[in-house]
Amino acid sequence: MDIADMAQRLIAGERRALARAITLVESGRADHRAQATELLATLGTEKQALRIGLSGTPGVGKSTFIESFGLMLTGQGMRVAVLAVDPSSSRSGGSILGDKTRMDLLSRDPAAFIRPSPSQTHLGGVARRTREAVALCEAAGFDVVLIETVGVGQSETVVAQMSDLFLLLLAPAGGDELQGVKRGIMEMADLIVVNKADGDLKATAMRTQADYAGALRLMRKRPQDPDGYPCAMTVSALEQRGLPEVWQSLKSLSDWRRDHGFWELTRATQARYWFEDAVKTALLAQLAQPHARAALAQLSDAVARGEQEPAAAAAAFVRELRVDDV
Ligand code: GDP
Repeated sequence: MDIADMAQRLIAGERRALARAITLVESGRADHRAQATELLATLGTEKQALRIGLSGTPGVGKSTFIESFGLMLTGQGMRVAVLAVDPSSSRSGGSILGDKTRMDLLSRDPAAFIRPSPSQTHLGGVARRTREAVALCEAAGFDVVLIETVGVGQSETVVAQMSDLFLLLLAPAGGDELQGVKRGIMEMADLIVVNKADGDLKATAMRTQADYAGALRLMRKRPQDPDGYPCAMTVSALEQRGLPEVWQSLKSLSDWRRDHGFWELTRATQARYWFEDAVKTALLAQLAQPHARAALAQLSDAVARGEQEPAAAAAAFVRELRVDDV
């Protein structure tokens, strides 16, 4: 594969090149990994999209929201990419987010690009591949990259590590529901959006929004927030209401963070995180190599027989460990 050619086509905005490049970063093959690393290095980080992480439990209306919101943005002349981190697709083979019938209109919009979650054996793998896919979408000139995940487990944390802004989508619910959202997830949110504010659900949605607005006001102020953030709003993704207001809030927040240095700071912190993540992954991969496993088994036996001290054997092992392919 000619990586320079692929990079050129991708930068020129060729969808096929972008799709192939994402397939390359998702591949588990060692030669593909090397090519993917080369491609990402060639592309650099000059172009920046607004990366928006979006989380919500199944059924709150994520795909309906992304479709309406995405179409609104493409209608304003923006190019929108949608990626997903779906921890369920790795374990059971069944995916919560990968359904082909989702976002039908948006998927046919030439200004939009939708990619389901890569399937991997563990969340860390899915997260890394998606983070790289985000970088590819940025290089391909997308203005907005939406990264969707479900409100279960650790996936919000990794999505937050690759997003500039984090949006939590909720359904209208009675007052006791508030406790149902984990505090850690609420603390990650820049914007809480209560969906389905229409018809019979409208009044409940407004109450839910007020409850969350109250809860947000009680939280410790974060340095990266101007007054009034994080905030809670209502929308109807189905009736396409409240969406311009959501966009306006996200834009104001990202502009403020750019002006006050927090945008750069967050991206720098995230770069460190992914660097350390890559180092750990490379070391673990190295441990799984046959020569490393054999050496480990041998030393482990020697330690068990009392011929070597555990600490000395470990030090000897680590000194010998070859780290040649990241
Ligand atoms: P996801 O599982 O979070 O992606 O949720 P979906 O987008 O598939 O929506 C789940 C259900 O909620 C579907 O039946 C949607 O039609 C419905 N839904 C989504 N958005 C709205 C909304 O704004 N108002 C109402 N009343 N229903 C909605």
